[in-house]
Amino acid sequence: MNIRMNRRRRLYEGKAKVLFEGPEPGTLVQYFKDDATAFNNQKKGTITGKGVLNNRISEYLMTKLNEIGVPTHFMRRLNMREQLIRKVEIIPIEVVVRNVVAGSLAKRLGIPEGTVLPRSIVEFYYKNDQLGDPMVSDEHITAFGWACAPELEEIMSLALRVNDYLSGLFLGIGLKLVDFKLEFGRVWEEDGMMRIILADEISPDNCRLWDVRSNEKMDKDRFRQDLGKVEEAYQEVARRLGIMPEMVTGADVPLDGSIETIGKA
Ligand code: UDP
Repeated sequence: MNIRMNRRRRLYEGKAKVLFEGPEPGTLVQYFKDDATAFNNQKKGTITGKGVLNNRISEYLMTKLNEIGVPTHFMRRLNMREQLIRKVEIIPIEVVVRNVVAGSLAKRLGIPEGTVLPRSIVEFYYKNDQLGDPMVSDEHITAFGWACAPELEEIMSLALRVNDYLSGLFLGIGLKLVDFKLEFGRVWEEDGMMRIILADEISPDNCRLWDVRSNEKMDKDRFRQDLGKVEEAYQEVARRLGIMPEMVTGADVPLDGSIETIGKA
């Protein structure tokens, strides 16, 4: 393995990931941490190995989405915890797609968790930790200029395509895709055209996945609700996807942007 040591500039640290300057202009390195938070940062913890699993799971799902023509920021995985991504201008909206009632929807409207929705529902939340990511409508988004109407239309259509595709993919491995959160960003292509592409990650951190037979939760709700076997659930999702990372014998990737695997990871 060819390893280059060079300290990269840390650009942003979030709750579960760190972004470093990428090796080429227009790229970033996304590092996946084991840190977990819930309830707007009130609950904090670590899920051992989560970063490694989410890096793999997100790589797998984003690659599949790319293959069906959903543009994503994913370029390639660099090593156990890092992936090379396209730099985007993040649209400050969390897009939640729901198929089954759970979480905040169950609480807000008093509908029992597990109720199957008559059709998929798309919701928008304004990305702002201080405000606790308040729910907003398309009116707020366009009025405040977070995205324009055609962009929102594109976001909706991409989100629903992702939902259709991922629902089928997960059903094939005995998991129900209850709901999930997506983030989108803008990129400017060489021809000067702006495009909306899928960003962030897709993993059990931001999806609700229930076992089809037992309805057992296989996602971050195990952490949120102290259900135990959190690592095991993430591992099981990876295993069913057929991407359980090989046993790790070498050292883990340090969180200082100093390691990068050249070539195919
Ligand atoms: N979600 C997320 N980040 C957030 C809020 C929600 O990834 O900041 C995901 C969450 O994992 C779930 C879906 O979006 O799959 C819907 O979450 P919900 O609105 O029910 O909120 P929660 O119950 O997570 O507070």
